[in-house]
Amino acid sequence: MCFVHAAGDCRVNVYLINPSHVSFGIGVITPRWLYVLASATPAIYGKPRLVDETLELFDATAIKAGDVVGIGIHTGNALRGYELGNIARAAGAYVVYGGIHATLYPDEARERGAAHAVVTGDGEQAWPAALKDCAAGQPKDRYDGGRVGGETFLPGRWDLLPQGRYMWASVQTVRGCPKHCSFCSVWRTDGQKPRQRHVNQVLEEIVDLRRRGFRFIALADDNFYPVTLEDLRMASRRNDPSHLEQLKATRAERFELMAGLEKLPSDTVFFTQITMEAAEDPEFLDAMRRAHIRGALVGVEAVTPEGLKDIYKGFNESGESLVERLQAFRRHGVHVLGSFIFGLPSDREATFDATLSVAERANLTFAQFVMLTPFPGTLDFAAWEKSLGDEPPRVGDIPVTRHWLIPQAQRPKIYMDHPVMTADQIRSRTQAVWDHFYSFKSIWQRSRGSVTSLKARLAFVLISKIYRQMYANTGIATDSARVNRSAQWARWMAIPCRRLFAGRPMPDLEIPMPMGHAASSGVPVIFHRERA
Ligand code: SF4
Repeated sequence: MCFVHAAGDCRVNVYLINPSHVSFGIGVITPRWLYVLASATPAIYGKPRLVDETLELFDATAIKAGDVVGIGIHTGNALRGYELGNIARAAGAYVVYGGIHATLYPDEARERGAAHAVVTGDGEQAWPAALKDCAAGQPKDRYDGGRVGGETFLPGRWDLLPQGRYMWASVQTVRGCPKHCSFCSVWRTDGQKPRQRHVNQVLEEIVDLRRRGFRFIALADDNFYPVTLEDLRMASRRNDPSHLEQLKATRAERFELMAGLEKLPSDTVFFTQITMEAAEDPEFLDAMRRAHIRGALVGVEAVTPEGLKDIYKGFNESGESLVERLQAFRRHGVHVLGSFIFGLPSDREATFDATLSVAERANLTFAQFVMLTPFPGTLDFAAWEKSLGDEPPRVGDIPVTRHWLIPQAQRPKIYMDHPVMTADQIRSRTQAVWDHFYSFKSIWQRSRGSVTSLKARLAFVLISKIYRQMYANTGIATDSARVNRSAQWARWMAIPCRRLFAGRPMPDLEIPMPMGHAASSGVPVIFHRERA
């Protein structure tokens, strides 16, 4: 029993915090994990207090002795997370860390972030266990959440959403990715076996969000296309019937989900992440379009075969066949946000213009150009860390192999030595590509092919500009004054931009029936809190 527990009422305040060193007042996508762990918080603790610092910075002095503070960190926000953890612990609260970074570096969360406990892996079952022990005054060092099955994924507690603060809602349909890209940690942390959520549960959650007025919803999946046609061909060639059947079943479930999504109101808009191989699967692309999946982030990464080899992404195309593949998405009604990486060992000065040219010729609706950064948990990071030996260079007293601990203002933008370019050349050329792709002239031209009415074209310009402010200027600029100015601009533009995404609440919307399932329409969406 909880040590402050009386007659079934626990007076522990539970906080769940999404740390950020920069806030925009309005969020683009709801930070799903906050709302999922709120679902996993047993009712005995009352409503958890959800804090998203991408909206505004949190005054941690509100935390009191005996409270339990859950902080979810990825590498980019770990330092701010540790700052909050120290304040919370000094106030006498129990501090529990979770998230990808805490999973990779549990000891660091204890040493730098004053953790009482660290949840590694998935939080659905481990978080309530940690809460129970904290409330009893006996937290363990570590709770291993492992990888829970798709049937155990929880919906978010969207009743706790602040009104009018987010543009897009988020729902997860599958975790894990069968690929093994060298710059990505997803396949190592979430696993290579896709864990799909039950179709009914996904539809229930989406209908809950539409009832609340969200019509733009991100399918926050690692890879929405976990089985490719090539996977099926290879499994048949290998004469491995059970593997082939498994792949077919996974693919069939995707189609079943899309058939359910198709029955949602026609103004619903989904966005997801997918590999480029989907371009050779017209049946899948057509099902996406019918399912209202209007856009997808596609990891193009590099436009040359050498670049793709650098990152173990040989399954992507390059050159003209790359342009053709990307155009295929548009032909099937799916807009593409193309993601490119600069700073690969094979990159040369000409790579920047070549990439821009591909992005323009391939009819991409949006694009992002990121600089190669060694993130922990990736193959790139392991090789880079090894290459620097026991005495890596330092910034202050922090080795660059722990770059996320370097204060934001002093943090280098490039870490890996390049054979022919300096760090500043890579940074300024990357910035120039962003500037060109998001110049007013280019955006206006793109708007013509993307939307029809003048109002929609103006909205397209606004959204493109805010995207650039939020993701390019705050991430690439080297001086903090420029970062602050960009954040301020993004704050101003985010308010009208959010209104463009707001939908009409549909309180009477019924849950569609996927093929071959009994009716569940009309049943109110239930948050599965009892499972916690
Ligand atoms: S980058 Fe994308 S395709 Fe590659 S492993 Fe990560 S999630 Fe999978």
